[in-house]
Amino acid sequence: MAVVTLATTVAMTLDAAEPRPAPGNHPMAKQHQAMLDAIRADTADTASWTGRRALKPSVLAAMAKVERHRFVPDAEAPYAYINRPRSIGHGQTISQPFIVALMTELLDLEPTDRVLEVGAGSGYQAAVLAELAREVFTIEIVEPLGRAAAMRLKELGYANVQVRIGDGFKGWPEAAPFDAVIVTAAPEQVPETLAEQLKIGGRLVIPLGKQWEPQTLQRCVKGENGKLVCENKLSVAFVPMVRGRGDDGRRHLRP
Ligand code: SAH
Repeated sequence: MAVVTLATTVAMTLDAAEPRPAPGNHPMAKQHQAMLDAIRADTADTASWTGRRALKPSVLAAMAKVERHRFVPDAEAPYAYINRPRSIGHGQTISQPFIVALMTELLDLEPTDRVLEVGAGSGYQAAVLAELAREVFTIEIVEPLGRAAAMRLKELGYANVQVRIGDGFKGWPEAAPFDAVIVTAAPEQVPETLAEQLKIGGRLVIPLGKQWEPQTLQRCVKGENGKLVCENKLSVAFVPMVRGRGDDGRRHLRP
């Protein structure tokens, strides 16, 4: 329980006036609260890089509402609220809670926004986005993961999320343009198709770089001239964004 103790201690040094939303009543609510405190502490610690000293109350509320233990395999459930990435099988991971919160924060979502996510994984990030945006479109290249995510999101009642099995390098042309795009696997450069599918003024949050090499989390905004202006926000480590095999057997799953 060292992690919980440390997080609590750090959280006590935070601004007492900051909102501190509580998780709902569930068997791991105590661990969930410690996760929220760890996220607030990490946000404060990285503020000089990210430019965000505190998360918006709406983002914290979404992190408080979505129960991470429902998105990991049963064997991982006891560890679901530790502020670390965890395995979800097929060599993939559910991202670190702080990174999920920060990427969501950097998207600056409005309740009317339509968002594209590349890399559905467990569906956890999509659920967090669905709490804040009107519609979420998420693409996963590993079929069993995409199917499991779609089923989970449906069971949890997320009617505003659509899941597709396919290659995220192609984006989701039928639903474009998007107000925001989030990529949760790292390509080496911003995929042009994703930039094209973003509205003018839209935000893109994406890790860039090779696996095992230093990667950077970028926040880009699409200017009036259609060009992206990107800022490096933080050093990160993501699984690679992999290329599909041409015919990616794209399937649309409606949760
Ligand atoms: N957002 C996820 C974590 C994703 S890990 C969550 O909340 O759980 C990154 C995911 O991106 C993996 O599941 C991986 O299979 C997927 N991925 C990698 N390359 C992809 C591509 N080209 N298109 C779609 N998904 C991709």
